[in-house]
Amino acid sequence: MTVHHTGVLVIGSGFSGLGMAISLRTRGRDDFLVLEKAQSVGGTWRDNTYPGCACDVPSHMYSYSFEPNPEWSQMWSAQPEILSYLQQLSVKYRLDDNIRFGVECDGGFWDENEHRWHITTTNGDEYVAQFIVSGIGALHVPNTPELPGIESFTGTAFHSARWDHEVDLTGRKVAVIGTGASAVQFVPQIAETVGELHLYQRSPAWVLPRRNFDIPTGLRRLFRRSALARKVFRNSIYWSAESLAIGLNGHSNLLRPVEAAARRFIEREVSDPELRKKLTPNYRIGCKRLLGSNTYYRALTRPDTDVITDSIAEVRERSIVAADGTEREVDVIIYATGFHVTDGFDGLNVAGIGGRKLVQHWQEHGIETHLGIVAAGYPNAFFLLGPNTGLGHNSVVFMIEQQIRYALSVMDFVRSSAADAVTVRQQTQDRFNAEIQAKLNKGVWSTGGCTSWYLDSHGANRTVWPGFTWQYWLRTKKFDPAQYEFLLPTGAGTDSENVEEVRI
Ligand code: NAP
Repeated sequence: MTVHHTGVLVIGSGFSGLGMAISLRTRGRDDFLVLEKAQSVGGTWRDNTYPGCACDVPSHMYSYSFEPNPEWSQMWSAQPEILSYLQQLSVKYRLDDNIRFGVECDGGFWDENEHRWHITTTNGDEYVAQFIVSGIGALHVPNTPELPGIESFTGTAFHSARWDHEVDLTGRKVAVIGTGASAVQFVPQIAETVGELHLYQRSPAWVLPRRNFDIPTGLRRLFRRSALARKVFRNSIYWSAESLAIGLNGHSNLLRPVEAAARRFIEREVSDPELRKKLTPNYRIGCKRLLGSNTYYRALTRPDTDVITDSIAEVRERSIVAADGTEREVDVIIYATGFHVTDGFDGLNVAGIGGRKLVQHWQEHGIETHLGIVAAGYPNAFFLLGPNTGLGHNSVVFMIEQQIRYALSVMDFVRSSAADAVTVRQQTQDRFNAEIQAKLNKGVWSTGGCTSWYLDSHGANRTVWPGFTWQYWLRTKKFDPAQYEFLLPTGAGTDSENVEEVRI
């Protein structure tokens, strides 16, 4: 076993982890390491390579404000371009020097005497760090349902987030299970190629028309030359997205016009009344993630495509039997069934003060943190895109940036004080969660009449930030030491009131 020592240990090299690594680098700090289980950077944008994979947030907003990219070729860029953006930044900031590829974190503990984290990895090494930062994200563990009889299936099956590019779908009989954000993007891409497409839908999504377009070369030239033009463009995207937050948060009547537009879109695209009925959701728009595609409905009207709303009763050697008894021949099954979200942190198997296991604690008490960034009892640990900081209406990269800034200000404070570590006060965390849960109870995710992966098994929303993202910016703008307990070197006490006195 090799033991490595570092100042800040970042886990994951997706948007969150890279953003943190870049921010540390630009502050002139080299005492950090990034653990990446794969062999390259990019996180979800490395893993998801399905046909049509793109971001449904405009690229000028779905990128770091401190690393604008004037070259985005399209309004909503495709996965290869987003991945390339991240790869280029990794090269620009020489992050390969600090990233340990193929190293997967499998647990760890907070040493209460040393005031250091000890993180263990699957290859048996240990990393000792004063601070740890989770950049593991929420959408990285594919959810593959256990279909009855799947073990007897002799065809090919894979998840959309692990697309098997070796499988030629031309002329094949393909079953797609799930109709969320991923399916809406790849179904139109494969519909023309496959022989038959059977789309198994548990509940339909609301889909709004979206016509992607190339950003004209003249505009790109302007963005290259003018930071102001880029900012104006980004801000216009930001504020138009923010306008949706009111409807999502307690004023769902305001979403009626959006829902009416989505209904009109279905009516325009789907002439068959039976299919139209199947595709029309019976819950308020926004309750599940709002989707956009100009081609999805059209793909479903093809004669070689059918939408099956009966659940799957059984998978046989080369077929799927639906609950109504209809058996359909199938060569390939594609799971578009999303990710383990509320249990997505299970891989981060760390124990904090008193040996309290994070995952077990969250399972028993609910996934609660302060600001989605820090958790009481887990000193010097930060979550990027932690609980309740996902969004249904704007760019999560915006949230990640606020979290990075907040985490760095906490680290700076600790470093400039005589304390070794900080842990957020339990009362602060409890107050924060009571406040956001009260707001979330009024949100469309809870009142809109649907079930979704935003909610945990008790129906509590552990995923979404309630409200405007600028409110999150305000909340995280300043680190308030009074909300924290300070852990001074062993024997020196733990009270934040002492900290000013013992500062160096
Ligand atoms: P998803 O939105 O969670 O959709 C999963 C689909 O699978 C749903 O239709 C769900 O039905 C269905 N499903 C799940 N388990 C099932 C089961 N056991 N049997 C039958 N159906 C089942 O997953 P996703 O499409 O992969 O997207 C996940 C998230 O990734 C998105 O919401 C989004 O945040 C992100 N994403 C983003 C983009 C982007 O452009 N930014 C693109 C793709 C994905 P129910 O609705 O009935 O649960």
